[in-house]
Amino acid sequence: MNRSAGKRSRAAAATPVPMHIRRDDLVKVVAGRDKGKQGKVLRAFPKEGRVLVERVMMVKRHTRPNPNRQIKGGIAEHEAPIPVANVMIVCPECGPVRVKRVAAAAEAGAGRQRACKKCGRVFDKK
Ligand SMILES: [Zn+2]
Repeated sequence: MNRSAGKRSRAAAATPVPMHIRRDDLVKVVAGRDKGKQGKVLRAFPKEGRVLVERVMMVKRHTRPNPNRQIKGGIAEHEAPIPVANVMIVCPECGPVRVKRVAAAAEAGAGRQRACKKCGRVFDKK
């Protein structure tokens, strides 16, 4: 199976959405069903403009047992991707904030890093 040929969501844009959120970011949900929840980003989907956040937008999937692949039947709960616009990155000092881009520190190499818009704390370590 070719992973890149997987299905895209109905709302998928023709071009990837520039995202300020990446995997392993701590984010707060600011809109939608799970507004107020906080969690770590498990995956980011720039093509869909969506993110998968730990313990957010839990949905139930009904699975049939498949002994060949050790899959147990029953109702499994897992996360579903939510629009990236519905989350904000959490700054350890300021709480949920917007992101600004700053020139990377010398030891971090070329390019730009993401930083807190309020206090300037840099989110990207490497
Ligand atoms: Zn901050």
